Amino acid sequence: MNIYADNAATTKMSCSAIQAMTKCMENYYGNPSSLYGVGQDAKVALENAREQIAQVLNCNPKEIYFTSGGSEADNQAIRTAAYLGARKGKKHIISTAFEHHAVLHTLMKLEKEGFEITLLDVHHDGIVTAEQVSSAIREDTALVTIMYANNEIGTIQPIAEIGKLCRKCGVLFHTDAVQAIGHIPVDVTKDHIDMLSLSAHKFHGPKGVGLLYARKGIMLTNLIEGGAQERGKRAGTENVPGIVGMAVALKEAASNLDNYRRRLIPLRDRLIQGLRQIEYSELNGDPVHRLPGTVNFCFEGIEGESLLLLLDDMGIQASSGSACTSGSLDPSHVLLAIGRPHEVAHGSLRLSLDGEITEEEIDYLIQSVKSVVERLRNMSPFWRDLVTGKRSHVFRQFQ
Ligand SMILES: *Cc1c(COP(=O)(O)O)cnc(C)c1O
Repeated sequence: MNIYADNAATTKMSCSAIQAMTKCMENYYGNPSSLYGVGQDAKVALENAREQIAQVLNCNPKEIYFTSGGSEADNQAIRTAAYLGARKGKKHIISTAFEHHAVLHTLMKLEKEGFEITLLDVHHDGIVTAEQVSSAIREDTALVTIMYANNEIGTIQPIAEIGKLCRKCGVLFHTDAVQAIGHIPVDVTKDHIDMLSLSAHKFHGPKGVGLLYARKGIMLTNLIEGGAQERGKRAGTENVPGIVGMAVALKEAASNLDNYRRRLIPLRDRLIQGLRQIEYSELNGDPVHRLPGTVNFCFEGIEGESLLLLLDDMGIQASSGSACTSGSLDPSHVLLAIGRPHEVAHGSLRLSLDGEITEEEIDYLIQSVKSVVERLRNMSPFWRDLVTGKRSHVFRQFQ
């Protein structure tokens, strides 16, 4: 059996998105800025994609700026709000300790440029509350940036509530919705979102393309100077096939969203129940307020890396921490942020499912993880210390 269970890292492309892209590359190869036929064909394809996407997000097509992906959109949103604030003497930014590095590293750069950053603690359940945001907002707060759903543990944040609060306080609100879009309902108007980032390859679209939604009236800061593309806010010839593929994948995900959730959530919960049968293990993050396909566990006495290698041998592709940090020996900043001690944060496993997974495959996942954890523990001197009582357990035997 082969099970790709790393959909939070990236997804397999949808067939209809591939077809739309191929057609676009074959026929609409012109430059959308050119005035002759093939150029205008490309322009039409581009603007149709923008309209389709705007419909899904519930915004105006003019509020969409195409980018090279989620990271670029995060960078541009945060710099925009920071510089708009600085012009009015507001140099304080609120975020959380468990954001994606595209957000955290941008904030660290801005701190060096003289901005003051407040990173909210994340509760043990992996959720930040509107009350926390409310008590952190000051007169000089320029921006609140909080992710819609966490990429490692899958917890969903109360974004509509936080958006409403920020709107009331007159503070710009950005959300990194890369993990949420295509997986749970998101509506930029209902959720009071000023800026939102998304990335096509997290919902079965192509890699290297995404967008920034910025509410009407927000003057974006350019990261890239050059031509007048994207209303002068993002220079460079547009990635027309990528954008077309993104629109098709998004429309498909949005029209299938109810089915996807109805089918996947019980399978995700079966996986959680199964993994809870492993002694000295714990689910990371709230069991209910989570993405339909994301499950993350910590196992005592295990090295996440060895777990991944043995699972790979059994035909299972999974992740430990995020792709950006795997390969380094530092434990995940997300797991540390929700209060996991170092020794268990090292033994984490993220399984992120796609909508096609079957009950049989879920049971194979459970059996495989069980057997691999047992094998690794039997070889581990650390585990022996726990068994003989030389070291004490962090978790209770069963949750
Ligand atoms: C994947 C991801 C990103 C980065 O998106 P890219 O398109 O790969 O640059 C940003 N934020 C979150 C939450 C992600 O999961």
